[in-house]
Amino acid sequence: MRILCPQCQAAYDVPERLIAGGRLLRCVKCRHEWREEAEAPPPPAPEPAPEPEPPRPVPPPIPAQHRAHQPIDPPRPSRRPGLALAAAWAASALALAGLATALLAYQAPITAAWPPAARLYVLLGKA
Ligand SMILES: [Zn+2]
Repeated sequence: MRILCPQCQAAYDVPERLIAGGRLLRCVKCRHEWREEAEAPPPPAPEPAPEPEPPRPVPPPIPAQHRAHQPIDPPRPSRRPGLALAAAWAASALALAGLATALLAYQAPITAAWPPAARLYVLLGKA
């Protein structure tokens, strides 16, 4: 900031941070001493209202001749929804049965490899 000596009007450029909170200054020309108070900081400016976002440009409509030529078929209703569901249930039951069969068929190696499995067979009454 620019500071003028009150006595001889000599001008000095002083960084504002050096006189923040007030500082005793002495003019090098006339030896006058005075206390310079930092200028009161300007009141905080109110936050500028956020500018509304500019509307995004809407992409131009696609000319009709560039659109996909194949009309989209509406999804066809499944003819037999019950059949697929029954097949899924059957497959699940088969998988479970296969797993149970394998557990029983390989009881000895399973128990040998993983001793806690013996408790499972005890629960199943197969021990
Ligand atoms: Zn002076």
